[in-house]
Amino acid sequence: MELKADLHVHTTYSGDSIITPEDLVFYAKKRGLNAVAITDHNQVEGARKIAAETDFLIIPGTEVSSQGGHIVGLNVSEQIPKGLSTDETVDRIHSAGGIAIACHPYALFKGSIGKHVTQKFDAVETINASSFPFRSASSKAEKLAKNFNLPCVGGTDAHYGPVIGIAYTIVNAELNLEGILEAVVKRQCQPAGGSIPLRMRVENQGRFFMKYLKNRRKRVS
Ligand SMILES: [Zn+2]
Ligand SMILES: [Zn+2]
Repeated sequence: MELKADLHVHTTYSGDSIITPEDLVFYAKKRGLNAVAITDHNQVEGARKIAAETDFLIIPGTEVSSQGGHIVGLNVSEQIPKGLSTDETVDRIHSAGGIAIACHPYALFKGSIGKHVTQKFDAVETINASSFPFRSASSKAEKLAKNFNLPCVGGTDAHYGPVIGIAYTIVNAELNLEGILEAVVKRQCQPAGGSIPLRMRVENQGRFFMKYLKNRRKRVS
């Protein structure tokens, strides 16, 4: 069956996201998604907990800061250390049973992996709804995927609930974790959706700033 999965979402466990577990499931359902990958920065705790608490299909993952840039590992439930070389990070993701995705390879201000991508990767995120500048980052990522002959996927890189599902991956698979991962590796997938509208990007920054102020007040008092 044809499924829609946002393969790149951050929760409050990322520190820089305001998406609570409740938000995640609420907006994923509202957008008509069938699955969401939780890819918190350098940790797997949230994904594990949320997956255990909901009947919505969660793909446990993480976004690892390697020396070369950010790498998303899907189906990874153990912590991969940050700061390792690109090669070693991909190897660790594979030995943890996961697949390695070159996320937002050419987005500015994101710790993008660009020229460090190798044939070892399993897929390239050619649509990342948060990336800037969206068009050129996407077309460079498409070229990269073509050069390495790798499957293309899409995700939002959401840090704010209402943007979940603006970009996603269409996969031809059974509705379970293994089915979706296998479909990505076998290229039974295609990225869809587009860029987060400017209005929502501004809203996101505003909400995050309010949360930061609130936490600061709490620490001061
Ligand atoms: Zn990133
Ligand atoms: Zn991310």
